[in-house]
Amino acid sequence: MQRNRPHDKRVLVIGLGRFGSSLALELVAHGWEVLGVDSNARLVQAYAESLTHTVIADSTDDEALRQLGAQEFSRAVVAIGTHLEESILTTSLLVDMGVPDIWAKAISRRHGRILQQIGAHHVVLPEHDMGERVAHLVSGRMLDYVEIEQNFALGKTRAPREIIGRKLGETRIRSQHGITVVCIKRHGEQFTYATAETVPQKGDIVIVAGKTDDVEKFAELS
Ligand code: ADP
Repeated sequence: MQRNRPHDKRVLVIGLGRFGSSLALELVAHGWEVLGVDSNARLVQAYAESLTHTVIADSTDDEALRQLGAQEFSRAVVAIGTHLEESILTTSLLVDMGVPDIWAKAISRRHGRILQQIGAHHVVLPEHDMGERVAHLVSGRMLDYVEIEQNFALGKTRAPREIIGRKLGETRIRSQHGITVVCIKRHGEQFTYATAETVPQKGDIVIVAGKTDDVEKFAELS
């Protein structure tokens, strides 16, 4: 069995809808070997060229899953959202097979709770998460925003006037605003790490880390 290899870069992706196909293509672009499975022949055909392997199969069929070698994968993603029964059954079959790292997409918190209870190791709620993320962008001045965990976020914003032309180490923004400037990007350049010696200039973009409220308030200064 191959799945205990430390550098196993193979993933089984079940469901090649919008979420599953984007995820699978991104993994392939990053050098992963992806077996994409869907019961819809048209979708499987559409991704046959771009994914490493594709198979038409019903993932709620235990025998079909075994035939495609699902039990040998160390990672699997169940990217079936709208068909609750299929999502739950597929996840439980993978759990029974002992796949050690199962990611499952949920379309509601209740769906997510069920997936977790039957043994999915990671549950993602793409629409809820994206909705929350966009809310922060719509309501504030942030250029981008990621909540890393409950009440801790990274925000991308323009450098506010109060830190322009001063060394970050001398601005006291950490004690005054509760945030840390992690990276900085000058116009036309790439992001680099910020240090105490970094002197932001007008128009620079910064990535700051801190408590969600503090990150938001800091972005309001820009
Ligand atoms: P998205 O919102 O990301 O497009 P969907 O939940 O609409 O996700 O799509 C899930 C995909 O999973 C569909 O392409 C569907 O054909 C596939 N699918 C659903 N049930 C099964 C199943 N039992 N076996 C294999 N594929 C399935």
